[in-house]
Amino acid sequence: MSGGNNHDNPFKIAQQQIQACADILDLPQSTRQVLLHPMREFHVNFPVRMDDGAIRVFEGFRVQYNDAKGPAKGGIRFHPEETIDTVRALAAWMTWKCSLLDLPLGGGKGGVICNPKEFSPAELERVSRAYIRAIGPFIGPEKDIPAPDVYTNPQIMAWMVDEYSSIVGKNQFGVITGKPLALGGSPGRGDATARGGMYTLREAARKVGLDLSKATMAIQGYGNAGSYAASLAESMFGIKVVAACDSKGAVTCKDGLCVLKVAEHKANTCSVLGCEGTVDLSNEELLQMDVDILVLAALEGTLTQKNAHKVKAKLIVELANGPTTPEADEILYNKGIHVIPDFLCNAGGVTVSYFEMVQNAYMYYWDEKEIHEKLDKKMTRAYHEVFDTSKRHGINMRKAAYVVAVQRVVDAMKVRGWV
Ligand code: GLU
Repeated sequence: MSGGNNHDNPFKIAQQQIQACADILDLPQSTRQVLLHPMREFHVNFPVRMDDGAIRVFEGFRVQYNDAKGPAKGGIRFHPEETIDTVRALAAWMTWKCSLLDLPLGGGKGGVICNPKEFSPAELERVSRAYIRAIGPFIGPEKDIPAPDVYTNPQIMAWMVDEYSSIVGKNQFGVITGKPLALGGSPGRGDATARGGMYTLREAARKVGLDLSKATMAIQGYGNAGSYAASLAESMFGIKVVAACDSKGAVTCKDGLCVLKVAEHKANTCSVLGCEGTVDLSNEELLQMDVDILVLAALEGTLTQKNAHKVKAKLIVELANGPTTPEADEILYNKGIHVIPDFLCNAGGVTVSYFEMVQNAYMYYWDEKEIHEKLDKKMTRAYHEVFDTSKRHGINMRKAAYVVAVQRVVDAMKVRGWV
């Protein structure tokens, strides 16, 4: 999570990563200055009437980090600890993510400081609509296209599209992605982040010589990405998922968890803790388990210099954004652990969001099989570009992903005459 000092500040980390990449690419100072800062950001305060009749004023942000390659794209988070620097970092990572997948999009992110778990459904709807009224002038299918992220979901996207459509006086499905199927959503968007990560895991396992049908996996985070990762790892490859956790704690079963039972238990009780047939564990213990694959699917700042040396997994699948600090990256690289870095590994979500935009524009919809094939092709290609670049430069996978992604953004800025 984001904190007060520089070291814990995700945006400082994002900037440190950009500097390291700019050194490898030998970029001039002026180009670095553009890459190190968001191009545009909006701070909004908006009132919402709560169920008890009182008015509460919420603070929100929308950051358009860089739109050299196309309109800004990225999710909206509702989180009590949201900060502008977290949103800036996430917007920067979206820029590299879209570039790495070769999508004609820039990077953006939004956030509202709130705890949606405390809202009634009607309050959640009013907060969602009010945020869109506040940022409405700055978004649009050709400017900036939001989507779901931490604690937001397809229903929230539907309210937001409806609100935006009434502002502009016409249906504008293309303004937001991750919508429900009933309102211009794309088949395959629900599990896209996890599925995309599984395609990169398949390629990585081939590179490191790991037989996935005999592999074990621990999953940190059991939200959209983590729970789909559990069921897909099992159904696609026969991986044994032996542990899972959420913000309240972890559970394990050495013969393998029943992943559907864990998901059902979490849906009923809001936690994986206490699921039948499992033993409790601490979240730190889960990170240190002797498994083949560790999936990071929670928030930023999970692996740091304090715990990275205790990781025993051979492969790390980063479905969260920013789960590993630069110091932890060095430790993992020196230990020979293969990391599939966040903005490569979790790019399946935005890739299917892009397919959703294309379908909205065409008013013609593909079937799920077609989405899976197109997603597989894009993820596999991006994985190999990053892997080959890491070997060519003798650098870790994250730095290699930066080299590929940042170079493309710089090329776009150059031909536009910005740098
Ligand atoms: N929030 C997701 C991400 O961090 C998806 C963004 C999108 O679909 O625009 O990649």
